[in-house]
Parts: sequence; structure tokens; C-alpha cells
Amino acid sequence: MKKEQDIQNQKNKIKVKTTIVEIDGDEMTRVMWAMVKEKLLFPFLDINLEYYDLGLKKRDETDDKITIDAANAIKKHGVGVKCATITPNKDRIKEYNLKKEWPSPNGTIRAVLDGTVFRSPILAKNIPPSVRNWNKPIHIGRHAYGDVYKNQEILVPRAGKAELLFTPADGGQPIKLTIHEFKGPGIIQGIHNTDKSISSFAKACFTYALDQKIPLWFGTKDTISKTYDARFRHIFQEEFEKNWKKKFEEAGIEYFFTLIDDAVARIMKSEGGMLWACKNYDGDVMSDMLGAAYGSLAMMTSVLVSPEGFFEYEASHGTVQKHYYKYLKGEKTSSNPMALIFAWTGALRKRGELDSTPDVVDFAHKLEQASLETIQSGIMTGDILKVALPNSKNKQVYTEEFIDAIADHLKKKMKKGE
Ligand code: NAP
Ligand code: MG
Repeated sequence: MKKEQDIQNQKNKIKVKTTIVEIDGDEMTRVMWAMVKEKLLFPFLDINLEYYDLGLKKRDETDDKITIDAANAIKKHGVGVKCATITPNKDRIKEYNLKKEWPSPNGTIRAVLDGTVFRSPILAKNIPPSVRNWNKPIHIGRHAYGDVYKNQEILVPRAGKAELLFTPADGGQPIKLTIHEFKGPGIIQGIHNTDKSISSFAKACFTYALDQKIPLWFGTKDTISKTYDARFRHIFQEEFEKNWKKKFEEAGIEYFFTLIDDAVARIMKSEGGMLWACKNYDGDVMSDMLGAAYGSLAMMTSVLVSPEGFFEYEASHGTVQKHYYKYLKGEKTSSNPMALIFAWTGALRKRGELDSTPDVVDFAHKLEQASLETIQSGIMTGDILKVALPNSKNKQVYTEEFIDAIADHLKKKMKKGE
């Protein structure tokens, strides 16, 4: 039974109207996740969370069914927030004594929800980007379906013929191409995408760019991949001309297509401020580069937007494995929880918008401001201290101290009603 004090405290909290799907994860991010909830969320929010434990042990126990359940829960409730998770490899199989090499949870969730992942850097005034001319955030829209993330691969053992075969479901004429005549061992990979998914990727990017009033850039390798990559270019162009050209003109923004390598070169020379649409693999790689260039991988937020209007917020970095091994040895670490905090604020803001509860949106804003003000006051984790503008007030703190400092800023803001 709840004590009276608890009930009173509960009444003073901000009510989040609709359930949010909470997806827990692994290693150092799991440790930070618990701290963020305990110190930055639960003291202020009356919130109902539907909890899915995607820690590797639990995925193994449930034969990965829990990952599908979590994705379906997002379909049911609309908004989810996810901690980073281990994608097992051979080492992890030994480390966790796994039944098998389970697939990437993000890959599984994206396959269920489809959609596009948008990533934006978290900009603090005293953390300048390492590319001097990037004055504005570069947002990345990463296609989150297919390509190498949903592939089939064969380790070719000896000489033989590899073929690409499509068999029509209606019994029509099959299409067959020779990939390679192997003279000895090698490798083959089969990847795919669908017009439907590419088209919703395009729609999601045009929508995001117009919403933020920023230009949209897109690059593929269609000079080399004359069918596969060319299809992406064609679908984007068609979608633009049909549904967005006029709206973009009115908003004074452009849609710009160029080869992916040219896009990379131009991005380096730009001042930022665009949405950069990337195919799945390009987005995976480039978003980490951008994250690091804007200060740290931990200063990059990520949201999966499904074409049906479901949202999953997460950090774009991994489980920070090396720090976790230190933590296990009893050492304190200075791991940065910013992207995890911003995953929660993203989910809360979206929930508040969908539920029309401005106090929830306002809380999300205050928590973000409290986090940035903490960094701007000089209190920060080791990863960003390395790249911060020099200041005698700058001080590296451990994760928990950093979160406590944010909590202090937040408490003041909540009291003042700032
Ligand atoms: P990572 O966890 O992103 O970390 C790579 C390095 O980046 C860290 O060693 C650390 O550098 C720095 N870093 C990342 N996040 C940080 C933070 N919050 N605070 C401070 N420094 C941070 O990538 P990884 O070590 O290659 O992968 C670890 C596990 O994460 C893997 O099992 C992988 O499968 C998984 N992963 C999950 C996701 C996801 O769930 N979305 C994404 C990527 C990877 P220093 O060591 O130099 O301090
Ligand atoms: Mg990546």
C-alpha cells in the first residue's frame, strides 16, 4: 500500500496521459538508463510505462520474441523509447552463453515498424563542431528498411555459379542473372528493398524537411548501381514533383540530388542546416561521423518515424561496452547520458503533442535546457570535455554526478516555473 506522502507527491507530478513503451537494454547504457529514470523522470512525472527488457539475457531466454513484442507494443501505444542494446557476434555468444547469434534488435524493430530514422546533433554553446563551418545542425534521415540489414549471405566454399533469381508469384516468367562464376571460394550477398518502403522513406524526408523548413539533400550511387540505387533516385524525384515541389518553393527550400560521394564532399564544405537523406548503410556510417564531429557520439539523438505515425526514440550510440567493463570492476566512469536523456525528452514531447498536454511538452523542454545549462556551466563528462571551448570552470565529472547536477538545474526550473 502507498504511504500518504507518496500519494501527495504523486498528485504534484505532471501527468503523462498515455502509456509510453519503455525498452530497456544492455551494459553501460542500461546502468545510465536506470539513473535517468530515478533522478530525472520519476521525481517529476506521473507516468505509465509498458516495460520490455531487451537486455541480451532476456532476448535469449525468450528466443528473441520479446523484441517483436516490444515493436508491436509501439504499434499499439504509438510512442516508445529505447535503450541501446547489444547486437550479438561470436564473442557475445561466448560471453553470454547464447543459444544463437540473435539479430540486431533495431533491425527487427525497424522491420516491424518500417520507417525512417532521423538523427540530429545536440548543440551546446561551448562544444564547437570539429568542422569549423558547420554553424547549424546537420540532420540525417536514415532509411531504416532493407539493404544489408535484411540480407542473405553465402560463404561460397568452392568453385561454382552464383545466380540471381526472381520467381513471380503469379507463375510468370522467372528472371535470372549470373552474379559470378566462382573459380574458388568467395562470398555472395543478396539484398533487397521495396518501392513501398522507399516511397515512404521519401515521404518521411520531405515531410520532415518541410516541417523544419530546411533543404533536403539526397545522394545515391546511381551511376554504378543503375537499377538498385537508380530506383531510389527515381522514386524521390517522382514523389517530389508530384507532392512537394510547390510546397518547397513556397517555403523557400530546395530538394537537391547528387551522387553520394559528391554529397559527402559538399556536406564538409557546407554551413549545415539541411536534412541529409541517406540510404540505410550510408546513414549508419555518416551519422556516427556527424555525431563525433559535433562533439561526441553521445550528443546525437535518434528517432524512428514509421509511415503509420509511430515513433521510437533512442540514443544513436551503442552500449558503451568499454566503460561497462570498468564499471563491473567497481570503477566509476564518466559516460555521457545526454543522448539517452534526449531520447526520453523526445518521447515525452511527442506524447505531449499527441495527447495535447502542454505541461508534458514543457517538462521535456525544461529537462533539455537543464541538461544543456549543466554542460554550459562547465560540468561535463570526459568525452565532451576533450572538445569543449577552454574555460577555467570546466570540470570532468562521473556520470552520476553529471545527472545529479542536471537534476539540480531541473528542480530549480520546476520551482520557478521558468
Ligand atoms: P558504442 O557503444 O557507441 O561506443 C563506442 C565508443 O564511443 C565508446 O567506447 C566511447 O569511447 C564512445 N562513446 C559512445 N557512447 C558514449 C557515451 N554515452 N559516453 C561516452 N563515450 C561514449 O559502440 P561499440 O563499443 O562499438 O558497441 C558496443 C555495443 O553496442 C555493441 O555490442 C553493439 O552491438 C551495440 N550497439 C548498439 C546500438 C543500438 O542499440 N542503437 C548502436 C550501436 C552499437 P571511449 O571508449 O573512447 O570512451
Ligand atoms: Mg552506426
